[in-house]
Amino acid sequence: MAYRPSRSRAPGGAAPTGPATLRRANLSLVLRELRDHTSLSRAEIAQATGLHRATVSNLMAELLERRLVREVGVEHVGAIGRPRRAVALHGAHVGALGMEINVDYIAVHGTDLSGRSLVERRVVHDAMGSGPDNAVRRLGLVAKEAVEAMGRAGAVPSGIVVAVPGLVDVTRGVVTLAPNLHWRDLPLAEQLSSMLGPRSVPVRVDNDANLAALAEYTSGVAAGTPHLVYLTGEVGVGGGIISGGELLRGADGFSGEVGHLRVDPNGDQCGCGRIGCWETKVGLAALVRAAMPEQAYGLPGMPVPDPGERVADIARGLASGDRRMMTAVAQVGEWLGLGGSILANLFNPRVIVIGGYFASLAQWLLPHAQDQLRRLVVAAPAAQCRFVASTLGFGAASRGAASMVVNHIIDDPTILDSLPRPAP
Ligand SMILES: [Zn+2]
Repeated sequence: MAYRPSRSRAPGGAAPTGPATLRRANLSLVLRELRDHTSLSRAEIAQATGLHRATVSNLMAELLERRLVREVGVEHVGAIGRPRRAVALHGAHVGALGMEINVDYIAVHGTDLSGRSLVERRVVHDAMGSGPDNAVRRLGLVAKEAVEAMGRAGAVPSGIVVAVPGLVDVTRGVVTLAPNLHWRDLPLAEQLSSMLGPRSVPVRVDNDANLAALAEYTSGVAAGTPHLVYLTGEVGVGGGIISGGELLRGADGFSGEVGHLRVDPNGDQCGCGRIGCWETKVGLAALVRAAMPEQAYGLPGMPVPDPGERVADIARGLASGDRRMMTAVAQVGEWLGLGGSILANLFNPRVIVIGGYFASLAQWLLPHAQDQLRRLVVAAPAAQCRFVASTLGFGAASRGAASMVVNHIIDDPTILDSLPRPAP
């Protein structure tokens, strides 16, 4: 499904000028059509893009030479068996590396241009306790291993996007504030680039919930739903908002900080320093504290377990009817519905996709959350907003990060010309 960043449009709606600019724009137009369909004939591309048949043939010759598309042979269409020569997105040699750093793990997802998964991994890492220097070093090592693994699969990454749970200055690649990682004004793109050395491909940084929302919109359970809110269910809670098929970023790119909506003025202190933020009610730390306080986050001397293991422990307890866990999950579910209703009243989404641990415990959380949503959304009888559990698991943000790299190439495939060549 298409994700169309508004910056790819010519400013003021003017047509791109100059032969090189025009060619770049047309290459991008064709690649986008191919990304959104399994395969297309040249005639279908001409029809969809409004380009002349001869122009499409020329563009296709260039894309074939660049190995970004491939012929998929002659297909027979309809009862009379009319032949149709189709092409599909290819680019098996063009890699896209998505990464995510969170409170207790680093995730990587490497794909080729067509979205074929090449590397998928999650490593336990205590980013909260290790400090930014160690975290960047670890990110660099994990990135290097992923680049090598992608190389063995025949793909050279053309870019890296790192998802971070916090406010990100996307233009400069600086993490302005990541409360749960204790990071402030960290020039992550620059530091990771220098760790990867002079041959490093461009490194960008973005907000984890925005990237996960993009992953949901392009390949998740509600793919193609143009009005969609995504919620990360980790220790922190963030939101990514797709409105009218576009990612809503706000004036400074800081929209979606839904975890810090104040929902309880008499509540607990949040990682951001404020009192009663939504994530102090529904974040994984809040659930663990209520469901199994002996394993709460931040207890001295406690090793950081994989978040998946903690959630699996809770799921086992719930399945066996553990009273304390049932009460904890009901409470979290109600708060989830309350916060969800604020978002539904604001953005009128068709679905609220819940990710991370919310998805793993959806069968216990959702009845409570959906009840609250029905009660608290003003337009509830007509608006049909519902919670849906993500199927992308903890990897949603890294998958979205890889999609973002692919989008950059599709926006301008000529950037591949200026990338560093792989080491001989
Ligand atoms: Zn907060």
